[in-house]
Amino acid sequence: MPTLQEFVTEYIETIGGDCEEVEPQVYDILFPEGLAGQNTKFKRSSLPSLNELAERGLLRVTYDPEAVPEHPGSQLVSFGTPLVDTVLNDAVRRGRTATAYLTGLNLQTRDLPVKIRRTMKLPEGFDWLFENIRFLHYPQAVFWFEATFVSDIKEQEVLPVGFDLASGREVRRLDQLLDFERLEQCPTQSLIEVNHIDLTEIYLKARHETVRTVSALGNFRRRELETRLNKQVARMQLYYADLRKELDEQERRSIKKVSTNVETMESQEKFVKRLETINREESQRITELRQKSELKITLRLANLLIVQQPKVCIQAVATGKRGTEISSEPMEIIWNPLPEQLEAAVCPSCGGSTFEFRLATKRSKTEHPLICGQCVS
Ligand SMILES: [Zn+2]
Repeated sequence: MPTLQEFVTEYIETIGGDCEEVEPQVYDILFPEGLAGQNTKFKRSSLPSLNELAERGLLRVTYDPEAVPEHPGSQLVSFGTPLVDTVLNDAVRRGRTATAYLTGLNLQTRDLPVKIRRTMKLPEGFDWLFENIRFLHYPQAVFWFEATFVSDIKEQEVLPVGFDLASGREVRRLDQLLDFERLEQCPTQSLIEVNHIDLTEIYLKARHETVRTVSALGNFRRRELETRLNKQVARMQLYYADLRKELDEQERRSIKKVSTNVETMESQEKFVKRLETINREESQRITELRQKSELKITLRLANLLIVQQPKVCIQAVATGKRGTEISSEPMEIIWNPLPEQLEAAVCPSCGGSTFEFRLATKRSKTEHPLICGQCVS
């Protein structure tokens, strides 16, 4: 376990600030600038935000109570002080997101043109003309959502979902992507990051996907709970029916015994009251059972990992082989070395995924010469 001083020093340096030892246990610390954007006001609003700490400029802190009088203007740093609480809160928040690099992939693929010609189908008389090939980092965002189902019992499920930030498509094989033997903190080869969609947009997509999964899981649990509830209610109704039957018999027996009218009245009143008690208790306990079986679901984002995955991006144009002047706009064809497959290309007309391009007809209502099958019809 690092000491508090070691922890704070490492934290300040990690976030890009400065820490200088003035003398043993006395430090000058400086928070980095530019925290305003990622500034989070913590739950305890009395705590200073990181940005507020940064705005205070150079802070002289000491971890030794006896050093405070010798350094006027210095503040004592210990557990429970606002500075440490703010730092701890932020460190926990930062721990929920991380970036890793997928390494050990073979980017030198043999016969890539052959593979493209075989997989990306073109209309008769067309061929691919390859213009450029680049190795790029494609960020893959993996979100772990934590769903909590609370009824009479509490259950939790962690649901991972991944998206390619460049295409916005869901990553189907998360197990391949999250091969922890291959994930490293630094890349083996520094590559340029491909242009991609904003993470917030992908987060909304991921949440939408997860909400769908969670509702399905919720419905399944609800049905289970309902079956169990119906059984419990039936058992309880049986129990109270028995009580009423018993009461009924008692009443009949006592009527035989009693002689005067007053006594009969009194006895009847007593039975009516007891019957009311039984009925009230029954309905109360059934209501309680129903309340306990009500399912409440909460969903929260627990972790986010950005995996920078190298892929091969080939720029290509499809042109007519003989005489035809028609050629497509430059397209990006992506070779994914992880599953060793070509990814579906993007139709220039509808933006959908396709492995086959067709010639646009007049009916296609598009200016693009080559489009996907969906757009032709
Ligand atoms: Zn299309």
